[in-house]
Amino acid sequence: MLIRRSCAVLALTLFAACAQTSPTPAFEGPLMIATWPFGKTAVDVGLQTMAAGGSGLDGVEQGIRRIEELSSDGTVGLGGTPNAAGYPQLDACIMNGPDHNAGSVAGVEGIVHPITLARRVMEHSKHVMLVGEGARWFALDHGLKSVDVSGHAAKKETWLDRPRDAAAPKTTGHDTIALLALDANGDVFGGCSTSGAGRKLPGRVGDSPILGSGLYVDNSVGAAGATGLGENIMRHCGSFQIVELMRQGMHPQAACEEAIHRMAAGDPRGYELAACFIALDKQGRWGAAASNQNFPFAVGTPDGSEVVKVPAVSPRPLDR
Ligand code: ASP
Repeated sequence: MLIRRSCAVLALTLFAACAQTSPTPAFEGPLMIATWPFGKTAVDVGLQTMAAGGSGLDGVEQGIRRIEELSSDGTVGLGGTPNAAGYPQLDACIMNGPDHNAGSVAGVEGIVHPITLARRVMEHSKHVMLVGEGARWFALDHGLKSVDVSGHAAKKETWLDRPRDAAAPKTTGHDTIALLALDANGDVFGGCSTSGAGRKLPGRVGDSPILGSGLYVDNSVGAAGATGLGENIMRHCGSFQIVELMRQGMHPQAACEEAIHRMAAGDPRGYELAACFIALDKQGRWGAAASNQNFPFAVGTPDGSEVVKVPAVSPRPLDR
């Protein structure tokens, strides 16, 4: 076990130096990977949760809850950048590998932990996805921590009254915590949470709560998660593509890169997609890729965690 862990730590170091050329070797879990430098906090909390006897799903939920609490980067949780009408609407989803179960919430207002709400939907309803008011009611019904959103009505009214020729809201300042886990039994779990694109239209839903787009888990293969411009990721079902590529035998690193190449090849925007992915497989190998920017993310094992960075993929000549 010690030798395997040393291999994983060495792999982190090698990966940082030569992403796209040096795929990580296999590693037996627990292992976690998360988007962005703030993902290190999520990975650490998740691994501690598992070390204390929690399941992989508990690790994912607790790791993401911490980021929601901190509203890291101002893009996750209620401290995230508000929508065009001036209030946050949150998206999240969670997937449990062993029974291929999932829960998802979108456009939720005033609920402190949308990831927990997504898990409640999965475990305590007959549904997979709840949105907006209904998702909030379900959260309140299940005693989830909430804040007063009565002020939103006034904000909505002001926004609805705005001059109709006003410039369309710019979607900026977006990030997502996507957190993937492989536990010591070889089971796979994942979750993600975001306040979505800042200044999005009220009611806009991004990729994050859409299964197969912002997150996908298949316990026989592995998991993938996304961050970036949801409009681009969801048109390509990015996370599902990556898991399917891994099913065909690709290493997670190659699968993340291949998904971006395929998306760019089939899209008028080419590589200007602002799409970033992380992935891990059942053998404990992992990878990450980004379409057109440097992408820092976090990886951890019980021996420690680290933030590593991949550069944008080198574009392949577009075939069109
Ligand atoms: N993917 C998220 C969204 O579009 C935001 C992000 O990850 O940057 O809602």
